[in-house]
Amino acid sequence: MTQDPYEILGVSRDADADEIKKAYRRLARQLHPDVNPDPETQERFKDVSRAYEVLSDPGKRAAYDRGGDAFSQGFGGAGQGFSFTDIMDAFFGGGGAAAGAGARGPRSRARRGQDALIRLDVTLAEAAFGVTRDLKVDTALRCEACEGEGTAPGTKPVPCETCHGQGEVAVVQRSFLGEIRTLRPCAACRGYGSVIPDPCRECSGDGRVRSRRTLTVKIPAGVDHGTRVQLTGQGEVGPGGGPAGDLYVEIHVEPHKTFTRHGNDLHTTISLPMTAAALGTHLTLPLLEADLEPPKDSDPDSRPVTTYDLDVRPGTQSGSEQVIRGFGVPSLRGGRGDLVVSISVDTPTRLDPRQEELLRELAAIRGEEQPDGQNEAPHKSMFGRLREAFQG
Ligand SMILES: [Zn+2]
Ligand SMILES: [Zn+2]
Repeated sequence: MTQDPYEILGVSRDADADEIKKAYRRLARQLHPDVNPDPETQERFKDVSRAYEVLSDPGKRAAYDRGGDAFSQGFGGAGQGFSFTDIMDAFFGGGGAAAGAGARGPRSRARRGQDALIRLDVTLAEAAFGVTRDLKVDTALRCEACEGEGTAPGTKPVPCETCHGQGEVAVVQRSFLGEIRTLRPCAACRGYGSVIPDPCRECSGDGRVRSRRTLTVKIPAGVDHGTRVQLTGQGEVGPGGGPAGDLYVEIHVEPHKTFTRHGNDLHTTISLPMTAAALGTHLTLPLLEADLEPPKDSDPDSRPVTTYDLDVRPGTQSGSEQVIRGFGVPSLRGGRGDLVVSISVDTPTRLDPRQEELLRELAAIRGEEQPDGQNEAPHKSMFGRLREAFQG
């Protein structure tokens, strides 16, 4: 028995892909086990298939042409022949016989509805501490007239006459193997196995209607710009009375006039007169909580603290920072970030004669009338550190 795939297929060494395919088809038609079940023919069919496997693959064919043994180099070895699908592909040009193989029986009209996404603008305080909002949502709701069934009141779907309620029909292809039956979804009923002769007038048979409804949404404390809050089952209702998809609420945080957020930390800047920075002071710092509307009739003791008594040490430098632990944004996972307060020292710009006299006297006492310009390391202000962080 020859091991030469060209000889097995009966083609010349310079045969092109088309000739090889034609030769294989002709032989397979004669030798296929379904046509010719005797053992000797089956052996020849295997050889033909293996030869075709080598010659139909440009890589394997080239390897054989370079002097390789067609059947012993890991391709086309015993038991590694063509699958039925491969053979069908060779004959019908790819997947023809296998199409629709997954469909079995009528499919349900009910399908899950789509997810929906809406955007919600919130303030920084609402994102930080949570908020409850009423949202108006345009969505698909179950049709009340037909309760999602899609049928006019008092009517029912009737079995499809084309497929006799099966939802699929057999398509017969003739081939050398005899007839090949393939099941395809029924076009008349779109695979449902039934048709609605009298569709519901409210929803045209879809089982749902578009509507605007109001939804009360609780946004948890700690969400950030871009966070998506998932509301299970609040998306569009599915067709045919199917379950609803989910609604995602995407949070957009409006910029705040005095606070910025970095992760769970809040940053703010306060300005201090030069004298206060030099002498030290106490000041009342408004917190982000001050933006919250106090709950009505609540116990004053349980209301959130809205200010912080900040102790400014004598000699506080412009650009210095004070970190107030635990006064940042609550984390979704618990805990809370910090509040970082940057100090900006204001130099007086308009001095009356008396003030100027006092400042000149102070300068004289401090020996600062003719200060030397000194090169210094830059201040480690928030912006300076950010710049460093970005520059790596
Ligand atoms: Zn309806
Ligand atoms: Zn049908």
